[in-house]
Amino acid sequence: MRRKTKTVKIGNVLIGGENPIAVQSMTNTFTEDVEATVGQILELEDAGCDIVRVTLKDMKAVESVREIKKHIHIPLIGDIHFDFELAIAAAENGIDKIRINPGNIGGKDKTRQVIEACKKALIPIRIGVNSGSLEKDILKKYDKVTADGMAESMVKYIGYCEEENFSDIVLSMKSSEVLLMIESYKKISALYDYPLHLGVTEAGNVFSGSIKSSVGIGILLYEGIGDTIRVSLTGDVKKEIKAGRIILRSLGYKINGVNLISCPTCGRTRVNLEKIVNTLEEELDRIKINTCINVAVMGCAVNGPGEAREADIGIAGGISEFLLFKKGQIIRKVPEKDIISVLLSEISEIAGI
Ligand code: SF4
Repeated sequence: MRRKTKTVKIGNVLIGGENPIAVQSMTNTFTEDVEATVGQILELEDAGCDIVRVTLKDMKAVESVREIKKHIHIPLIGDIHFDFELAIAAAENGIDKIRINPGNIGGKDKTRQVIEACKKALIPIRIGVNSGSLEKDILKKYDKVTADGMAESMVKYIGYCEEENFSDIVLSMKSSEVLLMIESYKKISALYDYPLHLGVTEAGNVFSGSIKSSVGIGILLYEGIGDTIRVSLTGDVKKEIKAGRIILRSLGYKINGVNLISCPTCGRTRVNLEKIVNTLEEELDRIKINTCINVAVMGCAVNGPGEAREADIGIAGGISEFLLFKKGQIIRKVPEKDIISVLLSEISEIAGI
């Protein structure tokens, strides 16, 4: 069962409590390049991104926040490192949430000033502890990065917020080590009911990053821990959203779009299933679907008809042709060369687009 957390409002999105688990990403454009940043955020929106973060590394970036916000439709989070004054300026410039890193924001007094600014702007703060930038004194105390050390850093900064009666906070305990990440989130989740943003940081490219994130985020979500997620990937940011949504879907959350089921192929396969699945996936990435559709693409008649029948739309391969199923019923045979266009038109029909 999902752990009950406090609800926090980020722009027009509510997280925590019983609100849906939000999928986040972060742009990799220069934030001050408004056109490029807005363009990437709009692509992320189309991919299903609920909340987006941009880096605010200098005043130029902070000053572009208002213009960026005019053109986007999802909440904008400002990522701050080292310079607390940028956080204050961002709060004054219309950002929807500030992310600070206890490892480099500069201690209690500077954090207190950021809290004041966020209180005034009525925006939340994410306290983002990161195993790669833990405070020096904590590192010294524990000799290396540990879950206890990460939790100590978090407890200290939550304390700074609570001393100022500021409870509009979201917590994250990211690490590139999956086990350390899981342990750290579990520790902090046992102590507080503030919403948690989950992520395995510096997780790697699309392949290894998706796997590490699925393990880390998936285990925590399965235990009821987590209110927002980000799959960090070196590569196309839209893939972060795709991976995040697949993780949620795998755990039984209703996520709009196509859930693609496909068999691994074997010696029985007499169609080019890999090519068909990859092409179909590419085509589906271009379509926005506002309902959940299961599509089964199967190589042959062994498990094929079974899976194909269970799905909304299914195909089971024969020799250079497929048997098409719709809602459990055999519809007709389709030649292999026509299968992509037939599947796309069937999907569009169910989706009403
Ligand atoms: S569905 Fe058929 S082709 Fe696909 S793996 Fe199973 S037996 Fe092989």
